[in-house]
Amino acid sequence: MRILKIQTLRGPNYWSIRRHKLIVMRLDLENLAESPSNEIPGFYEGLVEALPSLEGHYCSPGCRGGFLMRVKEGTMMGHIIEHVALELQELVGMPAAFGRTRETGTPGIYQVVFEYENEEAGRYAGRAAVRLCQSIADRGRYPQAELEQDLQDLRDFARDSALGPSTEAIVKEAEKKGIPWMTLDARFLIQLGYGASQKRIQATMTNNTGILGVELACDKEATKRILAAAGVPVPRGSVINFLDDLEEAIEYVGGYPIVIKPVDGNHGRGITIDIRSWSEAESAYDAARQVSRGVIIEKYYTGRDHRVLVVDGKVVAVAERVPAHVVGDGKSTIAELVEDTNSDPNRGEGHESVLTKIELDRTSYQLLERQGLTLSSILPKDKTCYLRATANLSTGGIAVDRTDEIHPENVWMAQRIVKTIGLDIAGIDVVTNDISRPVRETDGVIVEVNAAPGFRMHISPSYGTSRNVAGAVVDMLFKNEQASRVPILSVTGTNGKTTTTRLLAHIFRQTGKVIGYTTTDGTYVGEYLVESGDNTGPQSAQLILQDPTVQVAVLETARGGILRCGLAFESSNVGVVLNVAADHLGLGDIDNIDQLGHLKSVVAEAVYPDGYAVLNADDPRVAAMAEKTKANIAYFTMNSDSQLVRDHIQKGGVAALYENGYISILKGDWTHRIEKVENIPLTMGGRAPFMIANALAASLAAFVQNVTIEQIRAGLNTFRASVSQTPGRMNLFNLGNYHALVDYAHNPHSYEALGSFVKNWNSGQRIGVVGGPGDRRDEDFVTLGKLAAGIFEKIIVKEDDDTRGRARGSAAELISKGIKQVKPDLSYEMILDETQAINKALDSAPDNSLVVILPESITRAIKLIKARGVVKEELQQQ
Ligand code: ATP
Ligand code: ATP
Ligand code: MG
Ligand code: MG
Repeated sequence: MRILKIQTLRGPNYWSIRRHKLIVMRLDLENLAESPSNEIPGFYEGLVEALPSLEGHYCSPGCRGGFLMRVKEGTMMGHIIEHVALELQELVGMPAAFGRTRETGTPGIYQVVFEYENEEAGRYAGRAAVRLCQSIADRGRYPQAELEQDLQDLRDFARDSALGPSTEAIVKEAEKKGIPWMTLDARFLIQLGYGASQKRIQATMTNNTGILGVELACDKEATKRILAAAGVPVPRGSVINFLDDLEEAIEYVGGYPIVIKPVDGNHGRGITIDIRSWSEAESAYDAARQVSRGVIIEKYYTGRDHRVLVVDGKVVAVAERVPAHVVGDGKSTIAELVEDTNSDPNRGEGHESVLTKIELDRTSYQLLERQGLTLSSILPKDKTCYLRATANLSTGGIAVDRTDEIHPENVWMAQRIVKTIGLDIAGIDVVTNDISRPVRETDGVIVEVNAAPGFRMHISPSYGTSRNVAGAVVDMLFKNEQASRVPILSVTGTNGKTTTTRLLAHIFRQTGKVIGYTTTDGTYVGEYLVESGDNTGPQSAQLILQDPTVQVAVLETARGGILRCGLAFESSNVGVVLNVAADHLGLGDIDNIDQLGHLKSVVAEAVYPDGYAVLNADDPRVAAMAEKTKANIAYFTMNSDSQLVRDHIQKGGVAALYENGYISILKGDWTHRIEKVENIPLTMGGRAPFMIANALAASLAAFVQNVTIEQIRAGLNTFRASVSQTPGRMNLFNLGNYHALVDYAHNPHSYEALGSFVKNWNSGQRIGVVGGPGDRRDEDFVTLGKLAAGIFEKIIVKEDDDTRGRARGSAAELISKGIKQVKPDLSYEMILDETQAINKALDSAPDNSLVVILPESITRAIKLIKARGVVKEELQQQ
């Protein structure tokens, strides 16, 4: 077997609207193409031996063991690989359940689709599944050691890509609330929401977290001063920079016991508490000095360690942190007890798990010594032995939830402290014997205020209730789901996407908002081009959705991007489908028009239930998408008698119609006449019917997004099929004696559309300069020839410079063949070079004629026309 291609989907896609994270593997079964599993000796047995847990896969029989039954009876290898890839991920705790496998148009080549949780792990699982199955097919088994290695690698991928626990909690909470999120490319920044509505977080700091507050909190001494000035109890202490000052500092705080810590440390680094002698103090000073220049000398207060978490001005959780410790059983040594504790699967390294392993350090031995113990002492039953002085979870401590116990006065104090420091999210460390009594009464102190506090201790305390602190953060950032979004309008179809996208963006601009839009020509924000190029895939859409200035996103959504990656967003507010016609067939395993329709319907289906699918009622494949979408439907039609649309309106639906020369929107009993097409420059004075259709679609999409009729009208009136606004889409030039039209039609459907305009040209000869992109099928070129013969009186057949792999001259031959089939005596010639072909056509254009150029390069064609002296670009012709 051979993997031909692996694609990673990340949004609604051809295979599923709901399952976004899919791997699509194009697989050549090679020698196994003819062998269903029952015909491969020992395959079933080998597979069961390697992965007995496949028993859990139901598959089509719908019961336990269902899939293995299929393997026994005989199923194709692609299907088996799908299940193995899923199972490998399941085995390492990455849930993956969805899969599909189908044979492509090429016999023996399959598309194997399966879900992933982690991209890299998903791709790896696919490759491992192929290895595993190939090995069993060849040798009857897959070595256990290799399987172990595969699983280990998968675990490593998961670990390496995992978000920190606090971040993870926040994004999970966002997902629960329907708020989109994405990782940005630097500094672990996460974006929540889209465009201008976005917020950012970095661990538990947000874009609202003030830098002054953070810096103040990071400077423990400064924090204490500000709090002391506000009357908050803080440890008495001072900061020194030299060992020489240590003695005096100890005296100043009133002598031992003391605490020595770095001014800007965290996670308990460099901190020593409960210091009782000069020699301890000296080495503690050195330890602190390694972390920061300034060293805090402070009175030691006895009491339990509490963390009070304040989000958005409110106390949302309180945890008591208990330093790393073990409890005796009367039999084991302390070393054994530590080992035992660390074997808890909940304990990992650093911050990765709910708890962290206990690591012994300098202070651990000091503590043991003070308790008269060593690592090899047997600890009496139920006796607690502390191994760390500070209670940080990251040094092996545990947390106990105390949220319900905190005294109201302490709540008030905590909330006031956070305001005083100036943080939207903060963790306050309080040392007191009893958090249920006012700190003042217990002689407690506020040790520090933490910016970016960890959430682990509140989300997964070892004892007590888990607190949804991440939920509080998301609620602070967004009033509701709506507040996290900007309207997304996604436009697809075989033809007219770019034109409609631009028109729609232009109409929306009348609302005064900043529009971000992507097209085949480039990505734009507001009035400006951000990036030129074919930007109809998810990356460009991402760029728009990440842009903090964008208030409305209008996205041309082409087949290639949907196939390669899926959509860039989970749902849109409006999904427009213009038409489905034959183009690009045979590419990317989309071999027929029904498959193409299914692909484009992703745009109609991935719409919020309260959004709209804007569908072309005149195209049966598009109209049929209404069945599949959960969103509201809005139809547009060129046919004012359309029964489908009449029925729809009768039922209270909304639609856009071309009626009596007007673009109108009908809703229930209401008819809003928006504009006469003659006043809509894009429609070439009403002579380009397909442009009327595009205008209907754009007007309707804007209307369902509450753009006013006046604004839609203003947009339609001022949008021109000009070189600047729609290069290559119906750009008409007046060259004095004759006209030239540059258009980008390149498939049968758009040829026909263009023909409908050219046929309305009554004044003189109609000359076509035609060709098509080389990667289309032979029959497509013949069709183009036939269509051209029906439109023009004279034709020059040319080819693209880039033949996309086709032999030079072959496309032109096929087009000529088509011409001859329809009109054997039509005047045509072949000039393969596009520049020469265009020049020839322009040179020989008779008076009053129309030269229609369908170029590979729009800019070059326009240049050649403009080189002919004074030319007027005609924007609106009667
Ligand atoms: P973290 O980042 O985990 O909050 P940190 O490195 O910033 O820790 P501190 O919070 O200043 O360090 O101190 C860690 C712990 O040491 C405190 O939570 C408290 O239990 C204890 N501690 C610090 N200073 C004192 C003090 N003056 N008296 C008593 N205990 C103290
Ligand atoms: P591409 O797939 O190349 O990006 P597109 O879908 O973005 O194309 P446009 O660039 O808007 O389409 O238009 C390309 C050509 O298709 C136009 O120049 C015109 O000839 C034709 N066309 C435009 N709108 C329609 C339509 N609604 N129906 C049929 N043909 C159309
Ligand atoms: Mg602290
Ligand atoms: Mg386009």
